[in-house]
Amino acid sequence: LVSRLPDVGTTIFTTMSRLAQECGAINLSQGFPDFTAEDALFERVAHWMRAGLNQYAPMAGVMPLREAIAAKVAALYGAAYDPEQEITVTAGATQALFTAIAALVHAGDEVIVFEPVYDSYVPAIQLQGGVVRRVALRAPDYRPDWAAVRALVSPRTRMIMINTPHNPTGTVWGPADMAELAALTRGTGIVVVSDEVYEHIAFDGVRHESVALHPELAARSVIVSSFGKTYHVTGWKVGYVLAPGELMAEFRKVHQFNVFTVNTPVQLALADYMQDASRHLGLAAFYQAKRDFFRAGLAGTRFELLPCAGTYFQTARYGAIADLADTAFVDWLTREVGVAAIPLSAFFGEGRDERVIRFCFAKREETLEAAFERLHRFC
Ligand code: PMP
Ligand code: GLN
Repeated sequence: LVSRLPDVGTTIFTTMSRLAQECGAINLSQGFPDFTAEDALFERVAHWMRAGLNQYAPMAGVMPLREAIAAKVAALYGAAYDPEQEITVTAGATQALFTAIAALVHAGDEVIVFEPVYDSYVPAIQLQGGVVRRVALRAPDYRPDWAAVRALVSPRTRMIMINTPHNPTGTVWGPADMAELAALTRGTGIVVVSDEVYEHIAFDGVRHESVALHPELAARSVIVSSFGKTYHVTGWKVGYVLAPGELMAEFRKVHQFNVFTVNTPVQLALADYMQDASRHLGLAAFYQAKRDFFRAGLAGTRFELLPCAGTYFQTARYGAIADLADTAFVDWLTREVGVAAIPLSAFFGEGRDERVIRFCFAKREETLEAAFERLHRFC
């Protein structure tokens, strides 16, 4: 058997969550909340199931949800996406990203990604025969070097994949970054895939810089978001894509044969739940309080906390604690200290290890307090 992905093993999230469970460690590795969503959301799912809405939804998603998404995006970003032609509901952001790449990248096309890069992007590009071009983001602030991006753009560049707020570094791009991206892609056929799954989790009053705020960019962009992050239901695997009609038509050609459509009663429930905008608008304050609690809780340990402007992840240098590769460090941390984290090398191509790890702070206070207690003892 000749593998299509010879360099790929099991994802770091599966690996670390499994190890955490085996060791009885507090799991701050894989990104998911350990608290529940509101009963009001579950009630709507039950309602639509009992009402008999249990068969296939339309291929692009149920219309009430597409309309609710259009209304949210118009209110937040002033962008008009047509629910009929320009919005598609997906089985989470992972499927959305994979489908966008499958629909738009031809063999030999170059795709620019920013490293550290979310782990699903590179294999998805490689499966299409795309050529990955990496731009390094450097600690401690992980800002993009636009001159480096410019140097990578070639006539073969088909796509640039961006992610703000950024997993794993928590970096949030500003308007100047979007202006650079717009200048770089102007007059080209480059498509931007903008992974905005943490769109509602930007801190300190900083506005999330959606490409939807920038009409010139939006015209060449596929925007991806996920309800899992926003409503504390990562296991539901429902997200969506926004794109201008021409790009969306190509996206749907693949989507219809990839998943065809997504869980009907959950879509209808999300449409109802979205009507109250305070639910997504309140998320930044909710997670900012957790970020601050987590950072304060680690004060006095030898971890050097890097900036965190968004997402529910906190990165940290551990060089003052141990002289170990990051994979060895998280192994020790999980087995001996009893707290699981993600080594940042999992987000890099072979060989890059900056001795930084990522903690997920989307947890109840008591979970975080139990982790502080262990971390203070050993670190
Ligand atoms: N992109 C990023 C940057 C993510 O962090 C995640 C999930 N943590 C995803 C995509 C995948 O989202 P979903 O669970 O909706 O597939
Ligand atoms: N995106 C989540 C994270 O970054 C994990 C999702 C997954 O397990 N694939 O931790």
